[in-house]
Amino acid sequence: MSMVVRFLNKIQNDVPISQSHQTHDFHTWALRTRLPQIRYIALVTTLLYLIYTVVEYTVVPNYNAERFFFHAVLVPSVMATVGILTHFPRHHRAMLLLLILAPIGANTINVYLNLSSRYFVYFAPEFYLSIMWIFAISGLRLKHAFISASSSCVVIIGASVMTDLPSTFINLHIMWLFSAFSFGFVCALVLERTHYSLYEKNLELAALASRDPLTQLWNREKMSQLFTLEQQQVAAHKQPMSLIMLDIDHFKAVNDEFGHDAGDKVLSHFATLLRRNVRKQDHVGRFGGEEFFIILPNTDGTQALQVAQQLQQCINQHQFPVVGHKSASIGVTEAQYVHETLSQLMRRADIALYQAKAQGRDNVVYLAASATAT
Ligand code: GH3
Ligand code: MG
Ligand code: MG
Repeated sequence: MSMVVRFLNKIQNDVPISQSHQTHDFHTWALRTRLPQIRYIALVTTLLYLIYTVVEYTVVPNYNAERFFFHAVLVPSVMATVGILTHFPRHHRAMLLLLILAPIGANTINVYLNLSSRYFVYFAPEFYLSIMWIFAISGLRLKHAFISASSSCVVIIGASVMTDLPSTFINLHIMWLFSAFSFGFVCALVLERTHYSLYEKNLELAALASRDPLTQLWNREKMSQLFTLEQQQVAAHKQPMSLIMLDIDHFKAVNDEFGHDAGDKVLSHFATLLRRNVRKQDHVGRFGGEEFFIILPNTDGTQALQVAQQLQQCINQHQFPVVGHKSASIGVTEAQYVHETLSQLMRRADIALYQAKAQGRDNVVYLAASATAT
């Protein structure tokens, strides 16, 4: 079984199994996109079963309470439950389990009610439709659909060969089942692959939308999202958090003397320098022009000041392309309380930065929250 699952994993995503983290994210994403499908299909299936009950009543000579219970009560209520559960993310596992089991149950009921009847031929198409339904209509992912459809087939074929139906009919019956399974499988495979390439495109677009194209640093929007995430950590674990703002000194002169391209190169180098000299968990962003900012999670003001001084040293020691030496002015501050917004924090770091400029540039200034409190 595990070999089958590995095989399915491999072909459905075209990604190595070692990329399981991305695969897991994909399946979470794919389930979210398929929820409306599951919801509406569950609703339509429920309604069709109710209509079917009326039709079945006029077709089956000895219509009994058992049939009524299965087709008008049990299957419709299971499908309605699936539809309702789509609205409750906490119960999505239960929803999927029901969606996998429901067709197996419906096929078993069909076998139980009709296999020995002389009208079986008229009830058999429900099996073929059901296999297609599992793969192409239900909204199940390939692996789950495979489990549901193959279990159904085992029940159907197992029960069919044990009857005294003519072997020619059984052969045809298995042929139709096999056809439904093959068409359904290919359909689910193609759907899953299409979903996966959509997911990859989405990731690419999200990455593009969150980076500054020149420096590849995070843009303001992304920094704001990261700040919100870090703030939740601050609130949960009572950790400090600090912010550093940097502005390259006399940058306009670079453009004026050496041209815009040289200015761009300096900006790229400056960005790389920042990224290489902070920790992995720090977030470096470009605020705009020649201004940059860094969010330092789990870092208090004193530690942030040290980081800023080290950065100042690195910048001063660096030989930038074309222009050689450049300095920067740096403002540092620590988040005062849990719900302080990024713009409040940036305003304070900006005042510190302005003071660093006023003190003659190539300076680091730390501004405590209390210094600006009114
Ligand atoms: P200060 O020391 O006071 O910060 O002086 P400054 O010259 O660095 O600051 P100012 O705000 O006067 O000039 C910033 C310059 O940055 C002006 C603008 O042309 C340049 N700039 C902004 N964005 C870019 C960019 O993407 N590429 C290049 N090459 N230059 C840019
Ligand atoms: Mg500036
Ligand atoms: Mg500047």
